[in-house]
Amino acid sequence: MIELNTKKSEAFMERARKVAPGGVHSPVRGFRGVGGTPRFIASAKGAQLTDVDGNSYIDYCMSWGPLLFGHQDPEIAEVVREALTRGWSYGAAEPLSLELAEFMTHEIACLEKVRFVNSGTEAVMSALRVARAATGRPKILKFEGCYHGHVDSMLVKAGSGLAEMASPDSAGVSASVAAETIVVPLNDPQALEAAFELHGKEIAAIIVEPIPANNGLLLQNADFLPSLFRVAKKYGSLVIFDEVITGFRVALGGMAERTGLTPDLVTYGKIIGGGFPVGAYGGRAELMDQVAPAGPVYQAGTLSANPIAMSAGLAMLKKIKRENPYPVLESRTRELAASLEKALPGVQIQTDASLFWPIFAPLSSKKKVRTPADFPEGQKEQYSKLFHFLLSKGIYLPPSGYEVSFLSTAHDTASIQALVRGFEEFHQAHPLQKAP
Ligand SMILES: *Cc1c(COP(=O)(O)O)cnc(C)c1O
Repeated sequence: MIELNTKKSEAFMERARKVAPGGVHSPVRGFRGVGGTPRFIASAKGAQLTDVDGNSYIDYCMSWGPLLFGHQDPEIAEVVREALTRGWSYGAAEPLSLELAEFMTHEIACLEKVRFVNSGTEAVMSALRVARAATGRPKILKFEGCYHGHVDSMLVKAGSGLAEMASPDSAGVSASVAAETIVVPLNDPQALEAAFELHGKEIAAIIVEPIPANNGLLLQNADFLPSLFRVAKKYGSLVIFDEVITGFRVALGGMAERTGLTPDLVTYGKIIGGGFPVGAYGGRAELMDQVAPAGPVYQAGTLSANPIAMSAGLAMLKKIKRENPYPVLESRTRELAASLEKALPGVQIQTDASLFWPIFAPLSSKKKVRTPADFPEGQKEQYSKLFHFLLSKGIYLPPSGYEVSFLSTAHDTASIQALVRGFEEFHQAHPLQKAP
């Protein structure tokens, strides 16, 4: 394996560790999941990252999802440059957020009103508050393996029995906050029904990633999402789709559009800002009118709906509407997945839309991974080996075996072939399974 020169990244990391926890500002960036020194990135364009030592990588992490059209999409860049000439924060009503809100409520059937915030976490936190206010109930039901940002009540894990309340999954989350969350396994209608039998009248909302994509890509049975609506309806609870990844990734209207289901509330992040910090939550007008200043649910933001992020978001969504990139992205992802499985026997690629996730399970097993309980043994170790092998060949996958990769329209045939070749070469260097 050729060793890249990473001296500058190493030196930056040594300095960074002294002034930031673990040297980074979001945990997975620290490479704890794969080992080694994180690359400090100096610039990015299209599908390419360049680090401070001058190494270039084809990027399949893509800032964790926002960059559907790749880094520095020229259309977004131009709109943002132009917006900068008019000021970058007014702290007052302005027409850009109006235009974006009109665009979204027009395009997305389940969205009657929307409020912009600065991150996915904020969107989720606010939507949960609205759900509690609207129902007058305290509890939220979430699924084990779904991630909803770092709001306290979502940093929880399942208790040992069904009747058991969730417990904190992070230091600093109080047991009393965790006790307001109920955690059930994915893909298990009986567990869901049982949790509602016990707590139904206290459950304000079910929150779900309609494609769970933060703990690997956990593929659900077709009836999973509809079953949530049936149960919620029976007990008078709301359903919140956390579309921070799936929103504008699987369709302009996200999974709500693709499935034809109508969640009461929806949260967005990632693509909606085109790479700038934006989040949003919205849904039925009657629910959103609970939010201040229209209603009693307080939620505010100094930099919310700032004109730079709003301009970027608008440019992004308009380009999506004009170009409809989904059919091409999806067929490329499917082809890529098939080629990768061929290139590296012993690996299975789970995919949906333009998301893909390699799992290290023999192809012969062909069992889908649907919950964290299905994770194959050795996933972390094998993925780390693959990650570093590819990194040395100029390919940057997400630095964790439990994070999904993202395809963008900037990934051309050459970058896709490079990934397939990387898998082939990995197979030659580290065969996982004897060829049949
Ligand atoms: C990324 C993500 C979040 C958190 O968004 P941030 O902008 O990182 O706060 C919440 N929910 C889902 C489904 C996500 O993928």
